Amino acid sequence: MYRTQTCGALRLEHAGEEVTLAGWVQTIRKHGSITFVDLRDRYGITQLFFNESLNTRLDETPLGREYVVQVKGTVVERSNKNPKMPTGDIEIEVSDFAIMNVSALPPFTIEEETDGGDELRMKYRYLDLRRPTLKRNMELRYRVNRSVRNYLDTQGFWDIETPFLIRSTPEGARDFIVPSRMNEGEFYALPQSPQTFKQLLMVSGYDRYYQIVKCFRDEDLRADRQPEFTQIDCEMSFVEQEDVLQIFEGLFKHVFREIKSVDITDAFPRMTWEDAMWNYGNDKPDLRFDMPLQNLKVNHRVYCEALQGVDFKVTNEAETLLAIVVPDGAGYTRKQTDELTEWVKRPQIGMTGLLYIKCGTDGSFKSSVDKFFDEQRQSEIAAFCSAKPGDLILILAGKEARTRKAMSELRIEMGERLQLRNPDVYKPLWVIDFPLFEYDEDEDRWVARHHPFTAPKPEHAAWMNNRERFGEIKANAYDIVLNGTEIGGGSIRIYQRDLQEQMFAALGMDREEAKEKFGFLLGAFEYGAPPHGGIAFGFDRLCALLGGQESIRDYIAFPKNNAGRDVMLNAPAAVDEKQLQDLNLRLSV
Ligand code: ASP
Repeated sequence: MYRTQTCGALRLEHAGEEVTLAGWVQTIRKHGSITFVDLRDRYGITQLFFNESLNTRLDETPLGREYVVQVKGTVVERSNKNPKMPTGDIEIEVSDFAIMNVSALPPFTIEEETDGGDELRMKYRYLDLRRPTLKRNMELRYRVNRSVRNYLDTQGFWDIETPFLIRSTPEGARDFIVPSRMNEGEFYALPQSPQTFKQLLMVSGYDRYYQIVKCFRDEDLRADRQPEFTQIDCEMSFVEQEDVLQIFEGLFKHVFREIKSVDITDAFPRMTWEDAMWNYGNDKPDLRFDMPLQNLKVNHRVYCEALQGVDFKVTNEAETLLAIVVPDGAGYTRKQTDELTEWVKRPQIGMTGLLYIKCGTDGSFKSSVDKFFDEQRQSEIAAFCSAKPGDLILILAGKEARTRKAMSELRIEMGERLQLRNPDVYKPLWVIDFPLFEYDEDEDRWVARHHPFTAPKPEHAAWMNNRERFGEIKANAYDIVLNGTEIGGGSIRIYQRDLQEQMFAALGMDREEAKEKFGFLLGAFEYGAPPHGGIAFGFDRLCALLGGQESIRDYIAFPKNNAGRDVMLNAPAAVDEKQLQDLNLRLSV
């Protein structure tokens, strides 16, 4: 037997017992003839006590950091207890030990606080994973996985695997492709999601499917994106939107209860996509704080009458004017408002300036537009915005889409500065009624907002023939949003061949191409496809949210870096000439 207990198991009640432990040497502290060693494994840390007068071998076979050792000894009560450690009441008086393996000097400190930089730790990820932070994250991920499976199991979902080697399809992100040796000149693609397979499983009559599954998307990476990531992917038959929302609200509550001991009893609020855009400027509002956008003027339509008849070029000519109210912000100094102005002028935000109105506690008004707006008008704007005495109104002017986006970001920034984004508060919601299409300016065509398998709302289906009305068609498509982050999304699907063909045509795919690429799905819809719908959650992101950290990378055992590289494997990498020959491929570079 390598060990009788793990390094996290021993307590005062074990005092006097002879035990054998195995693990890694974390620290060595020598005091004359006495040496203390912290021995670590996945379960914890136990202090070892070597007394050279009893045990001379330590001098002959010195220990080093990260050596793998086996020790035999007696559990004794510590004179100097450490209440911060679960095993802090005891130590092991070592009688014998063996080095099972030596270790090179680790390139960084393997403790909570480490001196290793990001890239170095990625390169030695197996060592980084020994650190308590990452170990906790991996444990959390495992527990979330269990919790999700348990819930879906009680709801009758079957876990069914779908293939990774599939065919490349248009729409969505770019595919990763895999050359086929046996089928010369042809390629598989890795799935961006199991979307069409889970729909086919509904046609097969499996009713409720789920999978915790890898998805692959060859997109330009942003800080929190990974080229391969994990989804909790689900599909259900004979459901309407309401059924899907109920089941997965249940999943969410279950996971929060099990993992965070947080009881979310209220039904999740539902907000239409239009309302979300109008009131928060984006489709994933952070509801931990209020501060809604005030639509003073939108696309040249004036909502706040006080703007009318004022000789001020900025407000007159702007396509859109939006405001937010910063509670108790009237005391901001010139320096602070200047700094906010600089903030909105940053290239990422892209505004040309910031207007403000300070609502004095004495009922007076002071603003950056005093020259154009008298106090009466300023008080009318304040009333429009529901600003109270002592508040500060911030106003942005510009093109509709850009101004709305900028204001939504300014709102988040102010929420951050005012510490309204408390990480211990959870405000989930459903955003519903997404548009079916969106216009892609770059490609100059309509594209599917969610994906081409999403059904239009039945009452809008007739407009599928009328390009003029594409922008108005809404879908029973929904996102689940938590604290300003989208963590899942899905829709009710098309299950009729003719409607699916109409959809492909709307996206600019001709009949031949649709048949060539999606013939399998169109064919399946001819054999009794049931009404169905589903959803997928970003599993890595859900774990990060539950763990209270920003980066999904910290919740993936072996992630890629920002350039999509695995720095440990040094992948991607060139392949042998022989491999290329087998595949009948020649590189042009
Ligand atoms: N397959 C979709 C996605 O990956 C989710 C869904 O519609 O169920 O976003």
